[in-house]
Amino acid sequence: MCCDLKRRFLLLYATQKGQAKAIAEEIEQQAGAHGLEADMHCMSEMDKYNLEAEKDPVVIVISTTGTGDPPDTARKLVKKIQDKTLPPDHFAHLQYGLLGLGDSEYTFFCNGGKTVDRRLQELGARRFYGTGLADDCVGLELVVDPWIDGLWLALKEAFLLQKEKGGMSASAVTNSLSSVPCEHKPDLTSKIQQLKLEEEGVRSSNVLSQKLIDVNLVTPAQDTEPSLVHSVPPISQSALNVPALPPEYIEVQFQDTRGEDPGLASLISEGAVFEVPVTKAVQLTREDAIKTVLLIELDISGTTFDYQPGDSFCVICPNNANEVEELLHVLGLSEKGEHFVCVKVKQGTKKKGAAHPQHIPERSTLKFLLTWCLEIRAIPKKAFLRALVECTSDAGEKRRLQELCSRQGASDYTRFIREPNVCLLDLLRAFPSCRPSLNLLIEHLPKLQPRSYSVSSSNLFQPGKMCFVFSIVEFPAYPTRAVSWRGVCTGWLAELVGPLLHANKNSQDAKGGSPLTEKIPIFARPSCTFHLPADPSVPLMMVGPGTGISPFIGFLQHRQKLREEHKDWGFGETWLFFGCRHQDRDYLFKQLRCFLESGTLTHLKVCFSRDLPAAEVTPPKYVQDMVRLYAKEVARILLKEGGYFYVCGDKKHMADGVSDAVVDILSAEMGADRLEAMKVLATLREAKRYLQDVWS
Ligand code: FAD
Repeated sequence: MCCDLKRRFLLLYATQKGQAKAIAEEIEQQAGAHGLEADMHCMSEMDKYNLEAEKDPVVIVISTTGTGDPPDTARKLVKKIQDKTLPPDHFAHLQYGLLGLGDSEYTFFCNGGKTVDRRLQELGARRFYGTGLADDCVGLELVVDPWIDGLWLALKEAFLLQKEKGGMSASAVTNSLSSVPCEHKPDLTSKIQQLKLEEEGVRSSNVLSQKLIDVNLVTPAQDTEPSLVHSVPPISQSALNVPALPPEYIEVQFQDTRGEDPGLASLISEGAVFEVPVTKAVQLTREDAIKTVLLIELDISGTTFDYQPGDSFCVICPNNANEVEELLHVLGLSEKGEHFVCVKVKQGTKKKGAAHPQHIPERSTLKFLLTWCLEIRAIPKKAFLRALVECTSDAGEKRRLQELCSRQGASDYTRFIREPNVCLLDLLRAFPSCRPSLNLLIEHLPKLQPRSYSVSSSNLFQPGKMCFVFSIVEFPAYPTRAVSWRGVCTGWLAELVGPLLHANKNSQDAKGGSPLTEKIPIFARPSCTFHLPADPSVPLMMVGPGTGISPFIGFLQHRQKLREEHKDWGFGETWLFFGCRHQDRDYLFKQLRCFLESGTLTHLKVCFSRDLPAAEVTPPKYVQDMVRLYAKEVARILLKEGGYFYVCGDKKHMADGVSDAVVDILSAEMGADRLEAMKVLATLREAKRYLQDVWS
């Protein structure tokens, strides 16, 4: 009876790293509480839905990847709706609400969502609810939570409209919605627990400070100072709106130690995995540089792995072994590390559409699961905190966890969890009575993502080899974490190649000791566009400060080899703008001079942002300043000679600074306003002549 009354809507998600999926699942879960039925599908499952015939409202959650691309799972649908022959009323029957996810660190913020939104509009679809664009840079939840809150009323109105059109009176629909049994009433607050401040929930400050000492945290100077484990009024005294407890859906069964772990290839759906040896590792920066940059050379000769300069590839990296050991210890599972674990979907779970997570093997050792499958450093989402409340025995800790996932505790969540990048281990240290079960970790921790790196070599120049360059990511200690940390992948790589680096230091031979026995698992992530122009006579400009220089070394090696092999070919001029902090500490590739001497590189422009100027005239500090200095050449190459402009490196600030400089240059050279110049830059981007490869 209840189901007859439920109103169905189609819920599509397109996810790259699982966030859009998690949000869609949250919507699906809340829908029940509003008397609605979400028919949820991954956007790639095009046999399970049909937008051309869809009558019910459609809710779309879509993330963005790469340089503004929709996720891989959205590609088929995006291609389909981008068909220029579709008439402008193709989706006139469709009403939709769209939530885009992105990161404003990147130039094309939320472009995946914007692309779909724009195209649906062009094809006549109608928004029943305003588009939400959530920014991972400041916290997705700032937009996601209110967007979901408002969705229910908008959906209700959309159903009313739908029924009016369908001839049924609006009041009938209102009745059908309001006659939903009590537990399904479309009232959000009826589904979230109103937690009253109860005796057991109010902690005495003595108990709390005792705990802080126990877990060796930086104790707040006074009780008036809030921290991860300590709250102050008003939140410590308010009633809390806590999200509904997510239903458990994973069941784990421990077995003995017999068997073999699955291969790493089984964790990846993106293509073949190659385990390749490291043949060389060089530290490119001096010991006193602010960031340590390493170059690693891999031997790919025994494999079918192939690449072009400009491509990236992915490294499958493990979690830090000490953290895995500590996690096992804190969970009380130290003895079980080598035991096999069978993971299944729980029979009779209340979670709708519960499925075995793709990144979790059905059978593997516990250590394998924690080492290769789960991002144990992920920032716990509020739903995870909510689930952790149930596994916490101490009343004070329970209450604080409730606060942190509550609506009232939103700013505490941002301040004490999101901003300091608190992870599960930090939480378990800070809340020692919290002992989650393994199934909860599998349900709530995301997939450990492979890390991408730009190739820094040419397969023509160095056959059978592939190089890449990276800076070791380092995080300082926090009040909630006594030790400093290195990035998961760069920390692992640095440790792995340590013996080779050491050998290099003690040897005249740059190749140092013999290859490492340990291998690095990689798979290809080819770029569609970030390649050298097919016509070598076309001029090109490359901008790559810091490790952003990496792909350009590959470009130059490739060009060098082509020049040696094809003496009769004409080669266009090549410009490289490089920047670093100090000339003598982090000038990564001093051998760029060799490319200059051979004529492969025609112009090398370098700037140092932290060196004191020797001359009276202050030299440019950043690559974008340097680009501005050569305005005439930039304009000539882009506007008159059909040249290419490449930008690579980390952070939006550099890439945006460079594109701002180019817009200013174009506007001055064309005698046009900035808007006109921006349009020209957009055309250059579309023609794949202004290309970016940026990361944060
Ligand atoms: P992670 O463990 O992933 O740590 C980085 C993350 O930790 C940050 O994103 C941040 O969210 C989080 N964090 C911030 N502060 C803290 C803290 N205090 N405690 C804990 N976590 C914190 N990088 C290169 O160096 N060279 C390249 O050539 C290169 N090419 C790339 C190409 C592409 C297409 C892409 C997408 C990225 C590229 N990157 C490159 C970036 C690279 O993929 C990794 O992101 C980088 O090396 C860091 O990986 P990690 O595992 O060491 O760090």
